[in-house]
Amino acid sequence: MKAQRISTTQPIPIDGSHGEGGGQILRSALTLSLVTGKPVQLTNIRAGRKKPGLMRQHLTAVRAAAQVSEAEMEGDQVGSRTLLFRPGTLQPGQYEFLVGTAGSGTLVLQTVLPALMLADARSEITVEGGTHNPWAPPYDFLARAYLPLLEQMGVKLSAGLARYGFYPAGGGRFSVGIEPPASALQGLQLTERGEIRQRAVTAVVAHLPQSIAKREIDQARKKLGWPADCFHILEAKNSAGPGNIVMIELHCEHVRELFTGFGRQGVRAEHVAKSAVDQVRDYLAADVPVGRHLADQLLLPLGIAAWRYGAKSRFRTLPLSRHSETHMHILRTFLDLPIQVAEEGAAVEVRIG
Ligand code: AMP
Repeated sequence: MKAQRISTTQPIPIDGSHGEGGGQILRSALTLSLVTGKPVQLTNIRAGRKKPGLMRQHLTAVRAAAQVSEAEMEGDQVGSRTLLFRPGTLQPGQYEFLVGTAGSGTLVLQTVLPALMLADARSEITVEGGTHNPWAPPYDFLARAYLPLLEQMGVKLSAGLARYGFYPAGGGRFSVGIEPPASALQGLQLTERGEIRQRAVTAVVAHLPQSIAKREIDQARKKLGWPADCFHILEAKNSAGPGNIVMIELHCEHVRELFTGFGRQGVRAEHVAKSAVDQVRDYLAADVPVGRHLADQLLLPLGIAAWRYGAKSRFRTLPLSRHSETHMHILRTFLDLPIQVAEEGAAVEVRIG
């Protein structure tokens, strides 16, 4: 039975060292393999990194993709630099994925979510691992910036954080419910930010002195000059280990954005706040709706909506990151899809479909 559902066609070859050359190209290839049912053969996985090959968090994403599609695989071991992935039929349902380290759980979710939003039934995904890691979308970014845009595309989503998982302890836990749209996915037209309706700066501390959060808030207040009621301190009791972040959220008419500064041992609280403030300033100065991280993360869902339903999308953003270039390379490899990028001074307009 299972063997019949698995495609035996030639796998699409992907060189994992292309573009950003890290975990991103692997995850994007897995997502599009799930979406199209086409097998993929990855080589040179994370070739240029200090510890090349699949790490625990990448392997969790690989296994998550395999579980939701009853895939067959070769090379799914820690350290492996090659992976053959042959997806079977997409199986919506309830899943729990355990990263087992502080590796990002949100990146695991983002590997399977764009495929499960095309399924014929609801899914509920729970992930245990890192929830607020440097170099990955923090859970709050997922829940407050990324998921609302997928909702605008027609997917019904719910998200809940049960436990924070900061680097290096990990051990966080969150769930996301995914209800595919009754008919087609819609594209997005994000050319303007619109009026800013709400601004919030939150300094979160877990198992660390509140004074850290207070210094961060003081610094952010000094630099941004926003009214006092925009600033909040949150002491996270439900956290497996210590952690600290500063999050700045802008709720605009057409989009929500969230910028993060990550606290680390040896980095002054003032600097953590400043790094989040600097990102907000760059974003506001560019006068675009979509920030750098949101841009790369939107490309797959928008590409999938264009390929499957002919839904055209357009968004304006900051100059594209290597992550964005990598997503576009993978989209063009798997899907016969027009993607145009036009530079407009300091901004960029991306058109898909
Ligand atoms: P990788 O480099 O393969 O681990 O992938 C990193 C992913 O995390 C990219 O999609 C980035 O846009 C995203 N990312 C990194 N830092 C942030 C952040 N502070 N907020 C939102 N997304 C982030």
